[in-house]
Amino acid sequence: MEQEKDTYYKDLLSENEELRMQLEEANDTIHAIRTGQVDAFVVESDGGHQLYTLKTADQTYRVFIEKMNEGAVTLNRDGLILYSNSRFASMMGMPLEKVLGLSFDKFIPKLSRKKFNKLIANSWEEDCKEEIILQGKNDSLIPCLLSCNTLEMDEGIALSLILTDLTILKEAEQQLKQKNEELQAAQNATKKLNDKLEDTVRERKSELFISREHFRLLANNIPQMTWTSLPDGEANFYNQQWYDYTRLGNFQTKELALKEIVHPDDLAITMEKYKAALASGNVFEVENHYRNGADGSYRWHLNRAIPLHNDDGKIILWVGTATDIEDQRKAMEKKDEFIGIASHELKTPLTSLKGYLQLLASYKKDELPPSIKTYVEKANSSMNKLQRLVNDLLDVSKIQAGRLEYKLGKINLALLIASWVENAEHIYPNSNFHNQANDDFWIDGNAERLEQVLMNLINNAVKYSPDNKNIIIKTLRQGDKVRVSVTDFGIGLSGEQIERIFERFYRVEDKKFMAGGLGMGLYISAEIINAHNGKIGVESTPGKGSTFYFDLPLI
Ligand code: ADP
Repeated sequence: MEQEKDTYYKDLLSENEELRMQLEEANDTIHAIRTGQVDAFVVESDGGHQLYTLKTADQTYRVFIEKMNEGAVTLNRDGLILYSNSRFASMMGMPLEKVLGLSFDKFIPKLSRKKFNKLIANSWEEDCKEEIILQGKNDSLIPCLLSCNTLEMDEGIALSLILTDLTILKEAEQQLKQKNEELQAAQNATKKLNDKLEDTVRERKSELFISREHFRLLANNIPQMTWTSLPDGEANFYNQQWYDYTRLGNFQTKELALKEIVHPDDLAITMEKYKAALASGNVFEVENHYRNGADGSYRWHLNRAIPLHNDDGKIILWVGTATDIEDQRKAMEKKDEFIGIASHELKTPLTSLKGYLQLLASYKKDELPPSIKTYVEKANSSMNKLQRLVNDLLDVSKIQAGRLEYKLGKINLALLIASWVENAEHIYPNSNFHNQANDDFWIDGNAERLEQVLMNLINNAVKYSPDNKNIIIKTLRQGDKVRVSVTDFGIGLSGEQIERIFERFYRVEDKKFMAGGLGMGLYISAEIINAHNGKIGVESTPGKGSTFYFDLPLI
């Protein structure tokens, strides 16, 4: 009995000792919790209150977990939150102390429920990682990467969840996606544009091909030689006729250019006019001799080139032609020759006729019946007209042959003009001449030829002014020149007509105002004034009248 007591006492003692040790351990734990060395939590379960602590309550890991950018929580089997770092609490928009002890389900929205349950069920078996949407403050949805691992704790196995907030990532992804879509749209638009551009280029190419072939066909089918050149004058195309006529190859044509083909006598003027046209952009026109490559002979050609402008008005190409005018030139020469011979042949009988008429006119009144006297006067006036025509014809043929020669002398214009106007008053008694050429101007000239010019201008002024008979003759100093002008108030001339009236045999073809004449007067006048180093011109308004003038250098 005594021994039984002793054993019981010993058991009590050791039990006491064990309890004391447990108490001490519990005290240590409580102390550790109090001092923050371990995390612990008391949970009420079926078996009463239960205290949970982290098995490795190491300060370093605690701080590490606390400072992590990810949310970290620990769940027990019932899904209650045993531990949470403050990052998780802030992710969910709650104070940390309110998070602890909560069921994690609170953060699972309906749409994630199924996925979450499956994930958690799996997690107890093996580590899992999955994207999931959580629900934070004010029902905000937070995309997270959830990784689950089992965690061994004193109180049994818990589940640790590490949550990476993917909001920014998702937003960036969304933005990226949007940018990608925009990029794709832009790419599509570019592709469409590109396709369209390619279509246009293809279309243009074929248009260009057609137009190039069109041009080639045209160029090779006209009888003229044709060429094109760049704005600087370098030729870049010659048609077949060019090669056929010159017998030069492409290379020779380029190398020799015009020097070998144009007659040496015409080269200077050709180049001068070509350069002038390139510089001014005006039409190029010159007549010259081109060598026929077949037999080395030269033939007259009329060269013309016109500039082609782009939309901005810039010259991009010159298009030129060379037309064989050898036959026309020969025909013209024949005609000139004929005019020369005919006028010469006419002149001789005219002179003797005039002599006989003068003889008749010299008879006294009573020696002849008065009617005969009148006939003689009329015959004389016709004779003068005829003589003027024949003289003009002769002059034209002389000019053509380059033989219109005369001597120059010192002339006082005022004196001469006064005598010429007096003469005109005599010939045209129905016109009113206003001679305002009173200033003394001295020039070097041929009085007879200048009289011919002025009388021609006066003659025209009378002829082409059917209603107003006033004619003004003036002299006016123009720098180192003097201008002699004849103004009428007649039918006038258009700009187009003015351009051509100084040409040989040109007459305005207006039936209303056709007056007798062969279109030689102004041509001869211009030649005479040119030979005086002067210039002839006209200013005119149709229906109002004209002022013809010539400028001569003063001594
Ligand atoms: P024509 O002998 O035919 O008059 P011209 O050479 O003198 O030849 O003149 C050429 C053309 O110029 C004329 O046919 C005429 O149409 C025109 N013309 C000349 N002078 C005048 C003028 N004063 N007024 C209007 N037209 C004129």
